[in-house]
Amino acid sequence: MSAPAPPDVWRIALPVPLPTLFDYRPPDGTPALPAHVGCRVRVPFGTRERVGVVAEIGPPDPDAPEPRPALERLDARPLLDGELLASLRWLARYTHAPLGEVLATALPTLLRQGEPVPDARDWGWRLTEAGRTALPRLRGGPRRLAEALAALTAEEVLDADHPGWRPAARSLLRRGLAERVPLAAGAFVQRPAPHALNADQQAAADAVRAAQGRFAAFLLEGVTGSGKTEVYLAAIADCLTRGRQALVLVPEIGLTPQMLARFRARLGVPVHALHSGLSDGERARTWAACAGGEARVVVGTRSAVFLPLPEAGLIVIDEEHDGSYKQLDGIRYHARDFALVRAKALAVPVVLGSATPALETLRNAALGRYVHLRLPVRAGAARPPRVRVLDVRKRPLEAGLSPELLAAIRQALDAGGQVLVFRNRRGYAPVLLCHDCGWSAQCRRCGDAEHGHAMTVHAGGRRLQCHHCGSAQRVPDACPACGGLALQPQGAGTERIEETLAARFADVPVLRIDRSTTQRRDALERHLAALGERPGILVGTQMLAKGHDLPHLTLVAVVGIDEGLFSADFRAPEKLAQLLIQVAGRAGRSHRAGEVVLQTHHPDHPLLATLLAGGYPAFAAAELAQREAAGFPPFAHLALLRAEAKQADLPEAFLRAARALLAAPAPAVTAHGPLPAPMPRRAGFRRAQLLLACAERPPLHAALDAALPAIRALPEARRVRWSLDVDPVDL
Ligand code: ADP
Ligand code: ZN
Ligand code: ZN
Repeated sequence: MSAPAPPDVWRIALPVPLPTLFDYRPPDGTPALPAHVGCRVRVPFGTRERVGVVAEIGPPDPDAPEPRPALERLDARPLLDGELLASLRWLARYTHAPLGEVLATALPTLLRQGEPVPDARDWGWRLTEAGRTALPRLRGGPRRLAEALAALTAEEVLDADHPGWRPAARSLLRRGLAERVPLAAGAFVQRPAPHALNADQQAAADAVRAAQGRFAAFLLEGVTGSGKTEVYLAAIADCLTRGRQALVLVPEIGLTPQMLARFRARLGVPVHALHSGLSDGERARTWAACAGGEARVVVGTRSAVFLPLPEAGLIVIDEEHDGSYKQLDGIRYHARDFALVRAKALAVPVVLGSATPALETLRNAALGRYVHLRLPVRAGAARPPRVRVLDVRKRPLEAGLSPELLAAIRQALDAGGQVLVFRNRRGYAPVLLCHDCGWSAQCRRCGDAEHGHAMTVHAGGRRLQCHHCGSAQRVPDACPACGGLALQPQGAGTERIEETLAARFADVPVLRIDRSTTQRRDALERHLAALGERPGILVGTQMLAKGHDLPHLTLVAVVGIDEGLFSADFRAPEKLAQLLIQVAGRAGRSHRAGEVVLQTHHPDHPLLATLLAGGYPAFAAAELAQREAAGFPPFAHLALLRAEAKQADLPEAFLRAARALLAAPAPAVTAHGPLPAPMPRRAGFRRAQLLLACAERPPLHAALDAALPAIRALPEARRVRWSLDVDPVDL
């Protein structure tokens, strides 16, 4: 007779930067403790303890040493399973990242740390038989609560969310006189829409409805104010009627109290929100509410794409072109792209909405992968704003503002309107220059090999700050190079524009909205509420470009965009065009006509000319043709290896060795570099990168799969910080 087979081992995915699973045997002392794939366990790892997820269960490897025992099984039933676990496994393969790190990224912090899944159900109280019998003997609060409970019919429970009753309830529960029962999820009551959908909106909503119960991707391209949100709401209401869950992804800036209120007012179910302002406890509860099915509609930022959706019916991605969907460190996933993967696995429709779709998305629509739905006109009474290009060559500028622009602002204010001055650079001035000798303030830790990166002047000219590494210092009294007293801030950021406008238009409020003034989530709301309907001026960065409905805005002034016209990044034109359209779309959102004034030294620049003549579609068509000619995405697929180290040559040495390993087996993949990173020095680290490009995805991934084990084993790999970014957005 052969010996009994050794018991199965648990193969655990741990959040460590090693691309393998780790074998453990079940904890000592519980010989038959079962585990399932997707359960969390606590295990010893090195000298520490870690929480991981069982990724596989199988017979032990006979050649491997006897595995250590796990310490504790944390879940009796899988925390991650089904579609979500399968999609996350896909993401680990796609990003070439360890599964354990992907799972850790996907889970809320408390669950990642091994805390139990919180109870997300709403509870009610009910009297037990013992409680009924004991009622006459009760006194005080417990008596009053017991009487209230006794008066309920068999189907009714008392909502436990009632702070005044809590001490009495505790007393009854402790003695077994009352019990906790989950509240049934309230039936879905759709509130009427404030206006009927127009024909385009109706056609879009109908198309999404026709796709219920299967995967289909829609691009909803609609100019700002065309009523995309109304289409989402119609599709979500439809999804709720069928008893399914809806997930809505929005950019970080877009998830405003205003937009949540709109969703809550219209959908007759609780709307859960997930964003960076929540506590760890709240995030874990939202996760649990999704997993348990209590959450029917979730509106969330990037990481909400990882929420479990056991009863999924619809995924919406608002402002799908937005840069905040791409995670720029750790697991570098793109929430829009991952949402498409999940929608397919869940067999549900997914709606990508934007006024300025990403070129990748337009290409997918052109190839027929997405159904292209269009909302070409503004909904209701709002008309598109008039756009005027203001040539400011040779014009005298005050804080970057021309006399013509200042006159336009005066006119708009006098007509009772509000004005938005958009400048995508915060701070007082981008440069501090010595007029005597030419010295300028530079960050010593950032820049390229020879020069530091210019430090931004803040605090009305008193403080210098590096926007790349955060280092700050006081503005020197005299020039450190020549000792002269002619230090002058050059150019204007939002702070200086605010100062200038406040002095010139002293009769109206001037509010600055950027990351420096709006640290708190609700600060912007309070600012805007304080302004109300009065004439006034808002000065801001792209924080103001989206999300907020500003119905009294009649003039949008765009200044200081010229540097964006000449950036080396091949995505810069796309980003600039999207930003210009989004900012312009702020004007004239209601019955008042809107005007956009664009101030530039390059009125004939092709980007501006195309955008003005044909709008975003014309720009996108021209830009796609250029990308195709140049072999850039979406006509090629990219991966970027980045490396950084304190010592100058190490990053390039590592990348050269990596390039040799990658090039050999993969003729279809071209490698560019190693080259210095766009910011070759940041916070004291030298940075370089190696770009890999391929016309098709599979050979690129195959080349990475083949080479990464050897790249990880390179001796140089231990001397640098390196990372791999598949589909990089910042090159
Ligand atoms: P988007 O999301 O495309 O920017 P919204 O859905 O926010 O557009 O709609 C813009 C404005 O138009 C809102 O004030 C909305 O209430 C209004 N609106 C939307 N659809 C209609 C409609 N069919 N009739 C009248 N007004 C509408
Ligand atoms: Zn000087
Ligand atoms: Zn710096």
